[in-house]
Amino acid sequence: MKIPTLLYLMASIMLLMIPPAFSNQNPKPEDTEVWDPEPMVVIPGDYSTSRAPSDAIILFDGSSLSAWQKPPINPEVVKEMNPDYENKPADWDVIDGEMVVKKRTGAIETKQAFGDLQLHIEWMTPYAEGKKGQGYSNSGIFLMSFYEIQVLNSYENRTYSNGQAGSIYKQHTPLVNACRKPGDWQVYDIIFKAPVFDKEGSLKSTAKITAFHNGVLIHNHVELIGPTVYIGTPNYVTHPAKLPLRLQDHGDPVRYRNIWVREL
Ligand code: MG
Repeated sequence: MKIPTLLYLMASIMLLMIPPAFSNQNPKPEDTEVWDPEPMVVIPGDYSTSRAPSDAIILFDGSSLSAWQKPPINPEVVKEMNPDYENKPADWDVIDGEMVVKKRTGAIETKQAFGDLQLHIEWMTPYAEGKKGQGYSNSGIFLMSFYEIQVLNSYENRTYSNGQAGSIYKQHTPLVNACRKPGDWQVYDIIFKAPVFDKEGSLKSTAKITAFHNGVLIHNHVELIGPTVYIGTPNYVTHPAKLPLRLQDHGDPVRYRNIWVREL
């Protein structure tokens, strides 16, 4: 096994455990919640969906989940460990041309791996009586399987600012709240710059994200401090230059449609 692969494997396993916060012996999820300021509400304009550009890689056009699979831990790693491993097909539902998160089946990820990219993805949080906070239609888009942009109903549903819709979870609060009502389709357009590691596995440059929510800028080339973690402080771990895009199953029937990327 090559050293970078070994490092990556070790880092992946560490990420599955609750990462320690070195300054705090008993870190709690609330420690990294930021509630103030609350982003100002902006009613988005008439930004609507359109056909993908001619050079886009279509990841979901409503017909099937053929571009997606169930991730084991990470297929790259598992293939190294077990040459007989075969990825399982994604088992979320496709209903009326829309991809629907299937509760407790786990995340799905693209078969293709990506580094720098432009991503277009449309999502809808269904109306749900009695749900609130992080429990109201939670999902998420994990760039390179590690870096989450939150999907959540944040229309008249307060949660911590760095965990609401459009947040780079627990790292960056969106500049504004451009969320539409539950049941309405919404769009993220994301420009992602992958982190770069040198041959020894040291971080050479951090990941950066620019993002639009329903056509409204919510992140302007912000820098990530590491992979998304629920508890504690993130730290970069060495990983390959390209990794799958992953969608989160957080137990809610969030829907997705019209997903495409352009590699940069
Ligand atoms: Mg989420």
